[in-house]
Amino acid sequence: MQKWNMIIDIERCEDCNNCFLACKDEHVGNDWPGYAVSQPLHGQRWIDIMRKERGQYPLIDVAYRPTPCMHCDNAPCIKAAKNGAIYKRDDGIVIIDPAKSRGQKALVDACPYDAIWWNEEKDLPQKCTFCAHLLSEGWKEPRCVQACPTGALKFVAADNSAIEKKVETENLEVLHPQYKTLPRVYYKNLYRYSRCFIGGSVAVEVDGVSDCALGANIKLIKDSKTIGETVSDPFGDFKFDNLEENSGIYTLEIKYQDFPPKKVEVDLKQSVSVADIVLS
Ligand code: SF4
Ligand code: SF4
Repeated sequence: MQKWNMIIDIERCEDCNNCFLACKDEHVGNDWPGYAVSQPLHGQRWIDIMRKERGQYPLIDVAYRPTPCMHCDNAPCIKAAKNGAIYKRDDGIVIIDPAKSRGQKALVDACPYDAIWWNEEKDLPQKCTFCAHLLSEGWKEPRCVQACPTGALKFVAADNSAIEKKVETENLEVLHPQYKTLPRVYYKNLYRYSRCFIGGSVAVEVDGVSDCALGANIKLIKDSKTIGETVSDPFGDFKFDNLEENSGIYTLEIKYQDFPPKKVEVDLKQSVSVADIVLS
């Protein structure tokens, strides 16, 4: 059976907030009976855009992570709800019943992704519905996906085996798999948000004059094994990304033309920009 899934590419998100505004446009001032009552103008972000800054000057990387409800297949919110106030539809969408959930403020804390918001005026928990009211009218995408100008958000109908294949071939990941909530929102290039890098610049010094080293060969070595290899760009810069935070000691081995090679040790905790590496 085909179910709805959202795929979000971190590399493509520019923090333009079109998705957030489209969600507000669709849900503020509009009741969608059976799906959700009107979202307040302020105080709720059904699709929230989180920001992560990695590295240090001069090598800094900023990534944005749009974060709606994950429409989990094993949703803690459903287990916490009384009277069946939250339920999963056959097409994978998790809905908070606007009538049955009235007064159930504790549901806000039941979601490990902080995707449920409290509407004080209406005494209701609320969240992203995957715009189920539009899908029921035959639309193929929710408003936020339609509004994304860079194609960072995709909406995909697929059965479980097709989505599993997509996960494998496109290296998709879910947020916090350790929660075992089985999200239906998948991320591409999540390493930009959740992992770290070792970067740096290679320069050469001849007769007291230094210059960027274009095309220096840099190896990344861990536990005596080469785990990455790259060459420096015209500014002498290089970067090894997608490394685990706090993953221990790495060695950079730098070779350039006939200059004596150099080794630099890095104790990796968070993303790091190694100061200029000068070969002379
Ligand atoms: Fe429920 Fe939170 Fe999962 Fe959404 S992300 S289905 S609100 S547990
Ligand atoms: Fe908002 Fe619909 Fe996007 Fe969910 S799917 S964040 S309800 S626009």
